[in-house]
Amino acid sequence: MNRFSAYCLRTGFVSSFLALLLSGASMAQMHVMVSIPPQVYFVEQLGGDLVTVESMLPPGGFPHTYEPTPKQMRQLSKATMYVRIHVEFEDAWWEKIAAVNPKMLVVDTLEGIERLESDMHHEQHGDVHDHHDGDPHIWLSPQLVKQQVMTICEGLIRIDPDNAETYRSRQDAFLQQIDTLNQEIQTQLTNLSSRTFLVFHPSWSYFARDYNLEQVAIEVEGKEPSVAEMTQLVTLAKDHNIRVIFVQPQTSRRSAETIARQIGATVEVLDPLAQDWSENMRHVANTLAKTLR
Ligand code: ZN
Repeated sequence: MNRFSAYCLRTGFVSSFLALLLSGASMAQMHVMVSIPPQVYFVEQLGGDLVTVESMLPPGGFPHTYEPTPKQMRQLSKATMYVRIHVEFEDAWWEKIAAVNPKMLVVDTLEGIERLESDMHHEQHGDVHDHHDGDPHIWLSPQLVKQQVMTICEGLIRIDPDNAETYRSRQDAFLQQIDTLNQEIQTQLTNLSSRTFLVFHPSWSYFARDYNLEQVAIEVEGKEPSVAEMTQLVTLAKDHNIRVIFVQPQTSRRSAETIARQIGATVEVLDPLAQDWSENMRHVANTLAKTLR
């Protein structure tokens, strides 16, 4: 040992330098691509500082019709992992997405989940859909999100086994939070005077199933309803004493406003795609509880 390194050791210089190197190595962040903003939240809950996450769908984008930009397609080459959820634009673009970066690990969060039937999503996209028929809005059920979180966690561990313990403990904490959230929503949505709510786009089928509510959609097979269908909806809304019609920021308000005028209801916004998923689920439950009380 020469005099310099002896000096360094004494002062702790080498050990702190080594520590810096090591932490630098383990802090190399994994870049994860997802399709929609709520999935950013899921991956961040699991990965914390170990990951950077980016959504293909930007705020305000509509997952049934979105088209990724050339810039986004180029950025895919930086991704270590892609978390699939099979929303329609993702399925439609999948071959291109996969071709840009054949090396990234593809984690499929439809695994272990059975989708609900959906006329709308079935009819709309002709030859695009294959075995992934059915209602794509699986991120709006806390129960199904637990399944998705476990699948994502396995993917993170596959890429970064050194941090397996961190991912697992973060997973356990998040799953527990979801259980608590689920309980809260359950409690809030008991003892309502009505269980039927009217929406424009049928995003909330899984949520409705989980909490024993009935979602009625204005949109028919992805299109604005006909005059005859509008008349039927007005009758239904009157029968169920509907006072609020829900739209989402990504779709048209026009037919919702027409029906609202005819029955003296108001139009309110519920966002199925907000990134802060837990907070948003709470907000949705609050709003529905207030409306259906
Ligand atoms: Zn949708």
